[in-house]
Amino acid sequence: MIIVGLTGGIGSGKTTVANFFKQLDIPIYIADVEAKNLMVTSKIIKRRLIELFGDNVYENNKLNKSLISEKIFNDSSFLNKINAIVHPKVASHFKRWCKKQNSPYVIKEAAIIFEHKQESKYDYIITVTADKQERINRVIKRDNSSKSKIEAIINNQVSDEEKIKKSHFVIINNDIESTQDQVINTHKSLLKLIAKTKI
Ligand code: ATP
Repeated sequence: MIIVGLTGGIGSGKTTVANFFKQLDIPIYIADVEAKNLMVTSKIIKRRLIELFGDNVYENNKLNKSLISEKIFNDSSFLNKINAIVHPKVASHFKRWCKKQNSPYVIKEAAIIFEHKQESKYDYIITVTADKQERINRVIKRDNSSKSKIEAIINNQVSDEEKIKKSHFVIINNDIESTQDQVINTHKSLLKLIAKTKI
């Protein structure tokens, strides 16, 4: 199975782009969404998070997000510890999911491909970009988040310039109609590349 990574900074439009690929019948795996699901459905993850944070990390079988945010705020090493528990399970869940797909390629949306040096796990990588101020405005509108918080996240992410250098495709998501056209063109290019490698 050909695995295409879809990445980009906060608010760049990864999920928006993923939805356009979905309209072309490409199976989409959104790593963040699956990680959140597994944090409440996987017995192993639950047991290990309870070992790390105590019983209060779940309330009525729901993840206590405010407790986790507070712990990470006070000690950022907790983020790596959570990732070490959750990421291997997401990876094995993704492998099982891939086996069930019947498509020339699948897309895995993951914000941190380059940050976690995961590029070798993908056959092709697409980076989504958009103007920084536009991204900030979109996330403020979507999440009711503050400008300074979004800027802090952007400053912690690998720059667009660096991401673009390491990607096979770039989708510039400023005007939505042009974004959809770029998705269609990228899809056609991927199909051609995949057909070529099969010969
Ligand atoms: P995150 O990194 O935070 O998960 P993301 O990269 O997946 O975000 P989206 O959720 O797709 O980005 O987009 C962020 C917000 O911007 C959403 O509310 C979305 O509807 C809006 N948006 C995305 N693309 C455009 C566009 N071209 N024009 C206007 N709004 C857009």
